[in-house]
Amino acid sequence: MDRIVVLPGDGIGPEVTRQAQRVLEAVAGKHDILNLKFEEALIGGASIDAKGTPLGDDVVELCRESRAILLGAVGGPKWDDMPVDTRPEKGLLGIRKALGLFANLRPAQVFSALKDASSLRPEVVDGIDMLVVRELTGGIYFGEPREIDRSGPVRKAINAMVYDENEIARICRIAFEAARGRRKHLTQVHKANVLEVSQLWMEVCDEVAKDYPDVELAHQLVDSCAMLLLKEPNRFDVIVTGNLFGDILSDEAAMITGSLGMLPSASLAEGGLGLYEPVHGSAPDIAGQDLANPLAAIMSAAMLLEHSFSAFDAANEIRDAVSSVLDAGHRTGDIVLPGEDRPTIGCVEMGDKVLEALGS
Ligand code: NAD
Repeated sequence: MDRIVVLPGDGIGPEVTRQAQRVLEAVAGKHDILNLKFEEALIGGASIDAKGTPLGDDVVELCRESRAILLGAVGGPKWDDMPVDTRPEKGLLGIRKALGLFANLRPAQVFSALKDASSLRPEVVDGIDMLVVRELTGGIYFGEPREIDRSGPVRKAINAMVYDENEIARICRIAFEAARGRRKHLTQVHKANVLEVSQLWMEVCDEVAKDYPDVELAHQLVDSCAMLLLKEPNRFDVIVTGNLFGDILSDEAAMITGSLGMLPSASLAEGGLGLYEPVHGSAPDIAGQDLANPLAAIMSAAMLLEHSFSAFDAANEIRDAVSSVLDAGHRTGDIVLPGEDRPTIGCVEMGDKVLEALGS
């Protein structure tokens, strides 16, 4: 029996994870290899209300002993005035840190039916299907020394971008493996013309590439990559990069798709444990009204099957089902395109449509 911990969280989190769980249960029923057991636990504001902390030690333990974690979203106005250290977001940061989630995978895919949602021209975005692999636990966000020095007549601040070769190699391996299961093209993004850290990234990435002769590797400067993402997004398959560049490029790639309610993500630790969550937040403005789009959470469930269970067929079945539901014209309010004159459906009905498309 493989345990999946569901952390619904706050706002629309419980609504969207409920639909994602229904889809997982349906697909597991069809694929005998999947013997899933779901266990629910608290995180974020819901945990603060019940236990006085955004993340209990018992929840961390439960997650550690599981195969995968499906998370909704945390936060909301109810907890906005709390001290930063005890707010719901601390729960999210805490679980990422406790589980050592070093690889963040953010796919950016444009479904044909939604190509008009992008701020780029439809012919530029049609068919976009890329994956940004970002290193999540190293680099300039964590490097030492770090400080604002106020002791002298001029204030001075310092942050250090630090990576060792093992940190680089393990994230590159994740990216090569992902590329192997896709169109076999990997772009390593760097700033090697000015940063020694980037020079080491290129060196180590080239060494790892020897184990993946079937994957074509290209190196791309981060500034030109940012431009190419807008000019020719279709040229990218998998992108791998460090924490800082990945933070920016994954948001740029995601926004090209134009639909926040459609973006899934995965964060992986060594040994295969993964946390899967939609990119969007808890959307307090629409929470509890059955208005949320569950597709980002449902596609996060597809990533869970792919990365924690190597159940590629089951994952693709879910993505195909989502695609066909969109092709059939079903829309939650957030993905209605300008000029589309059709009634919208709610979160539960969108879940029903995906289940129908799966034949369940
Ligand atoms: P948000 O992503 O929650 O919402 C932004 C806008 O997009 C809102 O209008 C919302 O209604 C809409 N939206 C988001 N997801 C949607 C969905 N699935 N279906 C339909 N519409 C959707 O961002 P925000 O408003 O800046 O933040 C709200 C709360 O969420 C804050 O407390 C913030 O800290 C938290 N947050 C949490 C996470 C997370 O848990 N990973 C991420 C971002 C923000």
